[in-house]
Amino acid sequence: MTVRIQVLGSGNAFSDGGQANAAIHVTAPGVSLLLDCGGSALPAIKKHVDPGGIDAVAVSHLHGDHFGGISFLVLEQHFAGRTRPLVVGGPPSLERRLRAAEQALYPDFFGRTKLGFPYSTAVLGPSATELGGAMVSALPVRHVALSEPHGLRVSVAGKLIAYSGDARWSAELAAVAKDSDLFICDASSFEREDPAHISYRELMRHRDEMGAKRIFLTHLGAETLAHVAELELEHAADGTKIEL
Ligand SMILES: [Zn+2]
Repeated sequence: MTVRIQVLGSGNAFSDGGQANAAIHVTAPGVSLLLDCGGSALPAIKKHVDPGGIDAVAVSHLHGDHFGGISFLVLEQHFAGRTRPLVVGGPPSLERRLRAAEQALYPDFFGRTKLGFPYSTAVLGPSATELGGAMVSALPVRHVALSEPHGLRVSVAGKLIAYSGDARWSAELAAVAKDSDLFICDASSFEREDPAHISYRELMRHRDEMGAKRIFLTHLGAETLAHVAELELEHAADGTKIEL
């Protein structure tokens, strides 16, 4: 059975290279799951897929370029006449942060209008949770602590997709990637050291420790984009499709 992955948003928080914030669509028969839904994800989603077909969102961490688009997706889906449920899973503070974002953005709508579809949240952790037809677990990684950073491991149709979210190198990141068929990894920087993100060079140094069958770069920042011709790993642009 083929698992299809489309990187709808491959950019970092600054949308370097004009690329949209994080949004990665995973599909297989009976599965439609979005990994992250950043602030500019909704236009990136609508360019490539029907948002009404997305059953669930798994959020890696609580930074705006990874979860800031969820309130827009919910608003859009309400007015599009959605009736099927939408579930959003993520770190422990996800629900509180979503409610705060809703009240900051559209206090006239959220909490005052009954949504036309069931909308719920779930906390993801080390034991796998069913989300959008896939089994998803979340393991802590090293990034900015307040964002409750996690890497995701998604089991779909016998394949394991690992996703770093945003993360610096650590043994915890290797545990996220371990034995995956595809590891989608943060490539914010090329060689510049960053306390919150692994660089491409560092990833290449630790490549064997990751234990992933295939590594795919996303979240490309300006420095990585400037060195794109030197990358020995596959990398995403907005709209890139991968099949497993
Ligand atoms: Zn982040």
